[in-house]
Amino acid sequence: MNKKSITDVDLTGKTVFIRVDFNVPIKNGAIEDDTRIRGALPTITYAVEHGSKVVLASHLGRPLKDKKKTEEKGLPYDEAKYTLRPVAEKLSEMLGSPVFFENEDVASRISSLSSGDVLMRENLRLNAGEEKNDADFARSLAEGIDIYVNDAFGTAHRAHASTEGITHFVDTCVAGLLMEKELAFLGKALDSPERPFVAILGGAKVSDKIPVIESLIERRVDKLLIGGAMAYTFFKARGFTVGKSLVEDEMMPTALDVAKKAEEAGVQLLLPTDHQVVDSYDPLNSRKSIQIDFTNSGHVGLDIGPETADLFAAALEGAQTIVWNGPMGMFEEKPFDEGTIAIARAVAEATDKGATSIVGGGDSVAAVNQAGLSDRISHISTGGGATLEFLAGDVLPGVAALDDK
Ligand code: ADP
Ligand code: MG
Repeated sequence: MNKKSITDVDLTGKTVFIRVDFNVPIKNGAIEDDTRIRGALPTITYAVEHGSKVVLASHLGRPLKDKKKTEEKGLPYDEAKYTLRPVAEKLSEMLGSPVFFENEDVASRISSLSSGDVLMRENLRLNAGEEKNDADFARSLAEGIDIYVNDAFGTAHRAHASTEGITHFVDTCVAGLLMEKELAFLGKALDSPERPFVAILGGAKVSDKIPVIESLIERRVDKLLIGGAMAYTFFKARGFTVGKSLVEDEMMPTALDVAKKAEEAGVQLLLPTDHQVVDSYDPLNSRKSIQIDFTNSGHVGLDIGPETADLFAAALEGAQTIVWNGPMGMFEEKPFDEGTIAIARAVAEATDKGATSIVGGGDSVAAVNQAGLSDRISHISTGGGATLEFLAGDVLPGVAALDDK
């Protein structure tokens, strides 16, 4: 990684602003999933143990957008949903030490911090300046700060005041430990992957994933496995009947173009050979697995079939680098999670045998967690959009803004 990390700078006695991702699900004041808070602990603990005064900042939901929407509909706006106060309490429990929470006079509170203290700011997105990357708001965030640390990979693809703007007003800007880990894994996969390098792509829409597919082909991934609803656009473009399966008609020429580029680059493109379908007239009782070419106009394809699961698993054998984004089917509805679970197992097995595996994307990560296999994956990426943009080869503004090594 060519960006400076928190481990490269002297933190003693310094006031350190850490941009974390505490955008956690909260219901009635209770945190439903604390994965993201746990993910930020190493960087926070590192800063505390190295004698800095820590200021934490995060966004939580989209308060201003939601407020506008609810007001337009004449519904009550629930302000309590957007405060980070419960997160500060949870974090304090996890650290076993106090976490101050300040909303009013943040600057004077910061100036009175002692080494080892942790202060959390209120939800950044309550201020319109955050998402607008407003210079005045960014300057106010930088007040009294010596070192800026970005540990929120999931928002690094957005140039907001706390991810980009602030770096213009702080001299030293570095990556946190979680950010460093993301950049190390994703960067290595793109720049110098151990081969064979196999990419698995799925999910609902081809249009979301075209930049990623093209970037992986350019980087000469050895095999590209395409499943999920996305595959149907490829099939329909090739003249197959796909019934009522999800297709993006306007993406058919792009799908043909991608297949051609893959062939020219010597990338082996694998599509499903069979799938799980239901009859659109009798969706509850008609599930069966059929060959792709037996699909009729009433069928809806909702998962890859067992033959495809075996084919994809075989293609993963011996892989040294695996990147996976996008479920193989409508995994939220059992039993259409079977294909995705089979692939998750195959990725875990390849990882046991020495492959470096990376899973990214909100739904893909949820599927791997649901299958109880996340411990057997080398790296579960914390970014949704950010991971996709990174894999597409884009420069993330929140990463570009950090100091070079
Ligand atoms: P990620 O969040 O991992 O990037 P996506 O958001 O691109 O993944 O895709 C996930 C969605 O794709 C899921 O909601 C899943 O139900 C849907 N999906 C996958 N295959 C199919 C299919 N054959 N038919 C309908 N939906 C599908
Ligand atoms: Mg998704």
